[in-house]
Amino acid sequence: MAQVYHGAPVRGRGPGTPPTRQDGLRRAPFGLTLGCVKASPQSQLRLLELADLDTELARLDHRRRGLPEVAELARLDARASELKDALVVTETELGDLSREQSRAERDVEQVLTRIEKDRARLDAGQVSAARELASLQSEIENLHRRQGDLEEVVLELMERRETLESQRDELTTDRDGLGGEIAEVTARRDAAFAEIDEQAAKASDQRGVVAAEVPADLLALYDQIRKSKDVGAAMLRAGRCEGCHLNVDAADLKVIKAAAPDDVVRCEECRRILVRTPESGI
Ligand SMILES: [Zn+2]
Repeated sequence: MAQVYHGAPVRGRGPGTPPTRQDGLRRAPFGLTLGCVKASPQSQLRLLELADLDTELARLDHRRRGLPEVAELARLDARASELKDALVVTETELGDLSREQSRAERDVEQVLTRIEKDRARLDAGQVSAARELASLQSEIENLHRRQGDLEEVVLELMERRETLESQRDELTTDRDGLGGEIAEVTARRDAAFAEIDEQAAKASDQRGVVAAEVPADLLALYDQIRKSKDVGAAMLRAGRCEGCHLNVDAADLKVIKAAAPDDVVRCEECRRILVRTPESGI
């Protein structure tokens, strides 16, 4: 059965809650639940304007959040953060390698100095004892081997550095490219935001104007329904609720037809306020 609501819903009952035994006590002789909200047909028609504006605001909000640029930016930001982390790791590794290389180069220097010193001793003929001579020559040989090993280490470190440096350059190029892409997508997103916000501000202003013309109790009822539905009122058009798009059955239509023009009728299915117009088919 369609219900005529004249006031805020009974405490503790949300829209759409099935009628309870208590409701039965409140039923008028013709089977409708009566409350205390009454509103002129003109005020009720204003609800349709409010509903249109609320639909528009919801659409704009949905569009704002669903902008492809928003998802794209999230993806680009995630990629930028990955690149940043990879760059930090590469730079740290490069720093370590650089220190390691300097150390190995210093070691080579030390070995070379030692070799030079030993050679100088040999060349100066300071060492004449056969045993000492053999020992010095053997030391020089050992130092040369050590020099070779160390130089190999230096070469290996240099190669690793080169690889890492080209890796870092690649990451830097990617990051810079991504920065440009992010700036471009951000500009597109902001332009879309600005356009949406402008439309939303307009709709919101209009809503304020319309809402100011709706009686407070009717507006409170509308807003309460709107908490669970996108809009709080819908037109009854050709026997159908434009909110839930369901046909109102013949018996309910009869009840609605019998209701006074200032009764506030609600859809039995979606609980929205059903606004009657010449198109209602009653
Ligand atoms: Zn409905």
